[in-house]
Amino acid sequence: MPPSHFDKSLVWFRRDLRDTDHAALYYALSRSKQVYCAFVFDTDILDALKQDGVRQDRRIEFIRDSLAELDQALRRNGGGLIVLHDSAARAIPELAARLGVQAVFTNTDYEPDAVARDESVANALQRDGILFFSSKDQVIFEKDEVLSLAGKPFSVFTPYKNAWMARLAKADGDFFLKAYPVDKYRKALAAAPAHIKHAMPSLKELGFEPSNLDALKIPTGMSGADALFDDFLGRIGAYGTARDYPAVKGPSYLSVHLRFGTVSIRTLARAALQAMHAGHGGAGAATWLSELTWRDFYFMILHHHPRVAGQAFKPEYDAIQWEQGRQAQDDFAAWCEGRTGYPLVDAAMLQINQTGYMHNRLRMVVASFLTKDLGIDWRWGERYFAIHLNDFDLSANNGGWQWASSSGCDAQPYFRIFNPVTQSEKFDPEGKFIRRYLPQLAKLSDKRIHAPWTATPDELRQAGVALDDNYPRPIVDHAQARARTLERYAVVKKADKNAAPEDD
Ligand code: FAD
Repeated sequence: MPPSHFDKSLVWFRRDLRDTDHAALYYALSRSKQVYCAFVFDTDILDALKQDGVRQDRRIEFIRDSLAELDQALRRNGGGLIVLHDSAARAIPELAARLGVQAVFTNTDYEPDAVARDESVANALQRDGILFFSSKDQVIFEKDEVLSLAGKPFSVFTPYKNAWMARLAKADGDFFLKAYPVDKYRKALAAAPAHIKHAMPSLKELGFEPSNLDALKIPTGMSGADALFDDFLGRIGAYGTARDYPAVKGPSYLSVHLRFGTVSIRTLARAALQAMHAGHGGAGAATWLSELTWRDFYFMILHHHPRVAGQAFKPEYDAIQWEQGRQAQDDFAAWCEGRTGYPLVDAAMLQINQTGYMHNRLRMVVASFLTKDLGIDWRWGERYFAIHLNDFDLSANNGGWQWASSSGCDAQPYFRIFNPVTQSEKFDPEGKFIRRYLPQLAKLSDKRIHAPWTATPDELRQAGVALDDNYPRPIVDHAQARARTLERYAVVKKADKNAAPEDD
């Protein structure tokens, strides 16, 4: 970080929409007399969404609400947020020049497109003699901070996690969890000068229509993250057992907040460690901390292997011949729309379509179904999730899809194929989740609801289920699909030497 002091600086907010425990804000405030704050609705990102036909996007509204709260918080301390709608690569150097700042502070983004954008911004600023500082903020450990004994990046999670925990246990470990003391320096916050247009663009001006975010009552901003976290802390002890059942309130639902940085990862990790050491509920907290470590792991993988955005982590998996053509297109449409005839898969797809969230167990089930039951390229599913998930994060999404399709680092072996019916019986035993999204199946028995086509004509009639009419028959036979998948994956057999077929 800069040893020098500046008269004026700019903090560029991106996926860190809070004013507490914020690395860039702390560095700017503690080193400058006056600090301006800005956020850009980046047309390079929004235009790509529009080209994909997206007209409503809960994330845009989530960001707008969170920015409004951030703006108020900054204003209370003499500052305020300049919100622009432009290409960030161009707008930030222009804004920095107009404000007459000597430095721009931001938090590091690890996605390949963001890395390229930041390089271009840094170069443009340099031409004007303005410094650019990027700090680690959204992870506990980044890049090369956790390496194997051989000094190499890990590609297997468990030894990574052990090294991650060991790093925290070292004498200086507390440093990585410490909150940035922004409060001490707030007096340097400066409001936007009158000649700078800074009002928040309306949803219409951004080119989007209202989504159902308000109706879903998804809490936004720092206050929303706090409320969710308070609620979760009361049940963190049960996380280890409850987290696998989609009908149960088991997980934290904080992913969208972690995505947009309305909460600090350090706050969450500290609280999890405290709960682990507090005695009661420690096992649940340890499991949850391990999920936060997966998040760091995938950011680290993306940093060291940016090619995974597009290619298999294990290159031999790119030789797999995925289904193509009309049938694949139809199957993909059925998957997207929740019409596969497998109730758990369909309910999960309706959950993402209606809410932008999908339970982790279900993400694994539907990803396995797309790649291993329908033989469709994991990249199609990854892209669908990227558009529809509120919490879409390239690193975790890519990691999750490559895990399910077996092409990723530390992925499940290719011969491990989720059975969508047994997964349903195991993780939604009473069909509660299925009934929530597929009311037309609600009257089927707990036994039949996982596979309606196995019900007798009488059972179907009594439950008001008409196959092919109000609910489809399965679009694929799981046993046959499994056999085809094992053939399809034969090209990678040599790589997975101890392969033995498994149904899960
Ligand atoms: P909790 O169970 O409360 O977990 C707490 C936090 O830990 C999460 O918010 C998330 O930040 C992190 N986390 C949990 N599991 C994972 C994981 N497997 N990998 C990385 N981080 C994890 N997560 C995303 O944040 N964005 C994505 O785009 C995304 N896409 C996925 C795609 C697939 C195919 C799969 C299998 C998983 C994906 N995940 C993704 C991981 C996981 O499903 C979600 O993080 C989780 O369901 C979010 O809900 P939660 O906040 O209630 O999670």
